[in-house]
Amino acid sequence: MLVVMAVAATEDEIQGVRRHIEKDGLTAHESRGSERVVIGVVGDVGLRKEQVMGHLAVLPGVDTVTPISRPFKLTSREFHPEDTVIEVGDGRVGGGGLTVMAGPCSIEDRDQLMRTADGVAASGATILRGGAFKPRTSPYSFQGLGVEGLELLAEARERTGLPIVTEVMEPSQVDVVAAHADILQVGARNMQNYPLLMAVGRAAKPVMLKRGLSATIEEWLMAAEYIVSSGNPDVILCERGIRTFETYTRNTLDIAAVPLLERLTHLPVIVDPSHATGKRWLVRSMALAAVAAGADGIMVEVHPEPDLALSDGEQSLTLEQFAEMAPVLDQIHAEVAGLAGETV
Ligand code: PEP
Ligand code: MN
Repeated sequence: MLVVMAVAATEDEIQGVRRHIEKDGLTAHESRGSERVVIGVVGDVGLRKEQVMGHLAVLPGVDTVTPISRPFKLTSREFHPEDTVIEVGDGRVGGGGLTVMAGPCSIEDRDQLMRTADGVAASGATILRGGAFKPRTSPYSFQGLGVEGLELLAEARERTGLPIVTEVMEPSQVDVVAAHADILQVGARNMQNYPLLMAVGRAAKPVMLKRGLSATIEEWLMAAEYIVSSGNPDVILCERGIRTFETYTRNTLDIAAVPLLERLTHLPVIVDPSHATGKRWLVRSMALAAVAAGADGIMVEVHPEPDLALSDGEQSLTLEQFAEMAPVLDQIHAEVAGLAGETV
């Protein structure tokens, strides 16, 4: 449920409400808007719901108490009407700007990463991506460089100034990945790995949560809820296509998820047209479509020599293709921002 504090509520009154909630064995999560404070109450109230709501409603400083109608609570727009904006390095994800994450699927060696990092930085990427711990379908495929890959990413950040995003596959890797990366990526295959979600929820770095291969929007938001309820409010959602009966594309990009999520949640949304299509020649149009639909950014795979890539070469853009696409993304973004009517 939501406890909406009066505009004039004092800090003592806010703390009084929090204490009351905790005394009841529930958890209080605060959302401080520009006008007033909203306190989300989570926990199992069961049959006590009416009683708990009644007690909260009469506490000093409380304006209204309402149930949250959705199963996801802290990630819902109801709890936090304003967009979440996440500080990453000197930049921000969400809040009206356009985030462009680019880099190789896997970090293969120093030369490949630095060439890619230099290239995408020069063409306007705002965040560098690269996989060090790789979730591969086959145990015989390249599994990533592990910690050595993380060190190379940190070196690429020093060199280009770009913050880095990289995947973490299990709870025991969270500390080492968080020590190197600016954003922890939870991959599609791990979207419902609850111990991992809780572990990144305790980390002090933003998390980018990719949509599961066959996850509904609600399951995805419930996964985000695990992270936020574990203490980490900085979650970025990444639509990367879902599995359908279609086989021409690797996955089916759910573009409608972008405006839908904007309505349901305050979290920023990124689209990954590389994994969504699996085909290099489809990436550009889907990236532009994502920005036109109102996404906060995109993530694309880029490789200096895609045909030699150790993973996902077929869907990786060349440096030249990325350099051609980047200014067009900015153009569409500026165009969409200037449109009248309902915001997208
Ligand atoms: C990736 O981004 O490197 C990746 C493995 O993607 P996904 O988890 O979406 O398959
Ligand atoms: Mn990949």
